[in-house]
Amino acid sequence: MTYSYGQVSQYLTCPRRYRHRYLDGWQEKDTRAAMLFGRAFERALAAYFLREDATAALFREWAACQNQCLQYSNGDTWDRMLQQGIQLLDRFCQDDRIRIRQPRRNLQIKFVRTVSEKNGFVAYVDAIGKLDGTRCLLEWKTTSARYSEEPEGLLALDPQIVCYSWMTGISEVAQVVFVRKRLVEVQYLRTMITDEQRAEFGQLVEDTIRRVESAQFLPHSGIRFPQNPCSSCPYVGLCLGKPELINIALVRRPGAENLGWLDELTY
Ligand code: SF4
Repeated sequence: MTYSYGQVSQYLTCPRRYRHRYLDGWQEKDTRAAMLFGRAFERALAAYFLREDATAALFREWAACQNQCLQYSNGDTWDRMLQQGIQLLDRFCQDDRIRIRQPRRNLQIKFVRTVSEKNGFVAYVDAIGKLDGTRCLLEWKTTSARYSEEPEGLLALDPQIVCYSWMTGISEVAQVVFVRKRLVEVQYLRTMITDEQRAEFGQLVEDTIRRVESAQFLPHSGIRFPQNPCSSCPYVGLCLGKPELINIALVRRPGAENLGWLDELTY
């Protein structure tokens, strides 16, 4: 079995959610505009580093999503997101703070490691390059709101960042956040992940896999109303037995237990 960050993260969010997704094969429908835009934008970034026309790549990738009955949030529209994407690419080029040598090798890099005799773990790291001259692991994010920078050091607690540091053994990590707002902004956030954090993450992965293998899938959504994560969980229709909610949010993909690593390509 090959695990990924997406699987561990889903299990830790709610074990029942993991079961719906990875054992029973229910998958969220790919109609969220923000998520699809993020994928299109990452392809445009790849084009930029490959010295191709990044704006044309963004238009091509985003146009391919235009007729997919997209679900927009925060008053977004297809045109508005495209304009914001073009402005963000311009800003990123002007900043000129990121360098990636040999982009064909150093973008979307696959890392695999053995976790136990019969289990492996896979991660696709966005890039390895330099931020302001310092070599680091790079992660791209697109968002409609700035990432919080307070309190200082917050980024070091991001489990996905710790996971990628654990997979690559690289301590220096930077998150480049492309903020789609009225006046677009690119945030360059950096942090150091310690050996201890990497070791702890390894233990967390092993512990999670042990619990999955012993079929512990009790629902525990965490926090009480009104912060109850069930209210925004795509699997709420399954847990409530409401077919109309299932049809809106999910599609069934049997045999999903062997394809979990594919999620890595969409996060
Ligand atoms: S609706 Fe709640 S209990 Fe059900 S999978 Fe989602 S978070 Fe878990």
